Amino acid sequence: MSPSATQHVLIFYGAFFPTAPFLSRRAKRLKRTEIVAKMGIRMTSTVELSVNEIGVPLSNLLGEEGKGFYQVLEFFDEIRVEIATQALGIAQGAFDRALDYARQREQFGKKLVDFQITQHKLADMATKIETARLFVYKAAWNYDQKRIGPKLTPMAKMFAGRTAVEVADETIQILGGYGYITEYEVERFYWDTKITEIYEGTKEIQSNTIASALIGKLK
Ligand SMILES: Cc1cc2nc3c(=O)[nH]c(=O)nc-3n(C[C@H](O)[C@H](O)[C@H](O)COP(=O)(O)OP(=O)(O)OC[C@H]3O[C@@H](n4cnc5c(N)ncnc54)[C@H](O)[C@@H]3O)c2cc1C
Repeated sequence: MSPSATQHVLIFYGAFFPTAPFLSRRAKRLKRTEIVAKMGIRMTSTVELSVNEIGVPLSNLLGEEGKGFYQVLEFFDEIRVEIATQALGIAQGAFDRALDYARQREQFGKKLVDFQITQHKLADMATKIETARLFVYKAAWNYDQKRIGPKLTPMAKMFAGRTAVEVADETIQILGGYGYITEYEVERFYWDTKITEIYEGTKEIQSNTIASALIGKLK
């Protein structure tokens, strides 16, 4: 079951709910347990929800009865673009700090940015980010045109997530010891970005979806 939390109501999609009902956050017998110990994205609240024999009135039905599965597919098409955007933003933020630092830091009588290996790292990071940006914008445009993207959206999410993880990692490397301590915020990017390869469909699930679309199992 996949609960999606909003300010006031919870919408339930998934195998147990071929139809998508919503519940008030204050519904009795709905148990919320706040998960505080997390690797990253600590500015957001994550809760474990358990529902125990809750009756849902028919008036709480969202959309058409029996169409919950198709609604969830549409929801994924939107939310996956949003997570890809989150990954892209983190990657860009990390890169900007890596470039700034490399311009300032001097070692062995040279700025870091003057070492060819640093230049190549920066070039590689910027290329991945630009590719991710094109992907994400295309997937967002596709969604705005109301086209479901069985391949494009998972590709955008998978690629942007991978890019962000790699760029955040390389950024810490460029900052050296300062990258590892909290005085510079780049270590936070590293913790925050990993979730983009996990939630709203892991990278493996995106890969499965892309492959299914390629071999014609998904249209
Ligand atoms: C901070 C945080 C916030 C979250 N927020 C939400 C939320 O708002 N709404 C929500 O619904 N969920 C949320 N989740 C849950 C999240 O979406 C799931 O953790 C994620 O989808 C992975 O599911 P799982 O943890 O059950 O892993 P599993 O499904 O157990 O997967 C474990 C590993 O096995 C792989 N795997 C599983 N099945 C397959 C397969 N068929 N083929 C190949 N590999 C496979 C996975 O890719 C993964 O690497 C959140 C999780 C976290 C940590």
